[in-house]
Amino acid sequence: MTPSEMPGAEHVSAALFRIAPSRTNAMTDRAIALRAAGRDIISLSVGEPDFPTPDHVKAAAKAALDANDTRYTAVAGTQALREAAALHYRRDLGIDVPPERIIVSAGGKQSIFHALMATLDPGDDVLIPAPWWVSYPEIVRFAGANVVPLQTDAAGGFRITPEQLDAAIGPNTRWLLLNSPGNPTGATYSAADLAALGAVLRRHPHVLVLSDDIYAPLRYTPGDHATIAVVCPDLAPRVLTVSGVSKSHAMTGFRIGVAAGPEWLIRAMGKLQSHNSGNPCSISQAAAVAAFNGPQEFLLDWRDRFRVRRDRVVAAINAIPGLSTPVPDGAFYCMIDAAPLIGRFTDDEGLVMHLLDHGVAVVAASAFGGRDGFRISFAADDTLLDRAVARIAEALA
Ligand code: GLU
Repeated sequence: MTPSEMPGAEHVSAALFRIAPSRTNAMTDRAIALRAAGRDIISLSVGEPDFPTPDHVKAAAKAALDANDTRYTAVAGTQALREAAALHYRRDLGIDVPPERIIVSAGGKQSIFHALMATLDPGDDVLIPAPWWVSYPEIVRFAGANVVPLQTDAAGGFRITPEQLDAAIGPNTRWLLLNSPGNPTGATYSAADLAALGAVLRRHPHVLVLSDDIYAPLRYTPGDHATIAVVCPDLAPRVLTVSGVSKSHAMTGFRIGVAAGPEWLIRAMGKLQSHNSGNPCSISQAAAVAAFNGPQEFLLDWRDRFRVRRDRVVAAINAIPGLSTPVPDGAFYCMIDAAPLIGRFTDDEGLVMHLLDHGVAVVAASAFGGRDGFRISFAADDTLLDRAVARIAEALA
């Protein structure tokens, strides 16, 4: 049924009709509902650290509440948080940016939504390396623009090449979306990779770059995190770098993301945000100040623990006949190929529903622009991961 065929008042906009619901969120909701109905479900569907939010962050949230810090703040975030975010950009990503060129939003997702909605017109093209995070293409479609997939594969480390980028850029290209370390494959671009992509972008001054660095602290390869605004400083005036505290500090429920970029773009995003949520939650902002300004050393310990889990889960998955996964360089997901088994199901969604029947919630590869497989998040404790992998093995035996 198209919007015009919908009866009476039952009518959704053409823009909404163009998009699908978030399949990561949908599977998580389904797992929550099944658990509420008494089913024993292990959810490896959504990407969120299982570690508790650090005590000093929780204390800051409680103190904000007690201080009646419960009112509207500036739309783009409190001065304290924008300054703390500027420290984060400088210290953790190497990006020197004043607080005025930073906007705080309700999660990195909202920053990305606002950046794309504020800049895209029908007919614009957005280049997205695939496999991609579920929401990138849907936001682009909602804005009425075209998704141009840049297909990558395991053999190439799931990274796009400069030649591929050059061939894909056209007169209508508005954005290139980069996500390193990437969700769902862990693809991680080195400084040399980014310099080579930058050389192409330099020849196409009409293209903006959205660099989603939300997983920067979760990189398992040696060396420093590389990001395009630093590797190619001359391109920085057209780069928006998205970050946050959700994945790094186990604060997914607080919904705080940050974005740093050129003044015109931050202003445009703020204009849209002023009619959307307005400011992000005042209490969450106080908590995020503590996250950025407080101790950071424990993040290294968390990263090491994720690395141990990654190695354990990759080995266990690769031992299951018909499944294979490369070792991800970053983030906390495995993109698992199940092509030899897919014939037993209608498609990867059928496979995922079969796994759900066996008590494990995962997300189908097609949700990420992939095929014949599924994604798991390994941000769960060892016992749960072991049980989940055992259930997957049993379900596919
Ligand atoms: N980014 C996370 C994931 O891919 C959180 C859920 C979402 O917003 O998609 O699982």
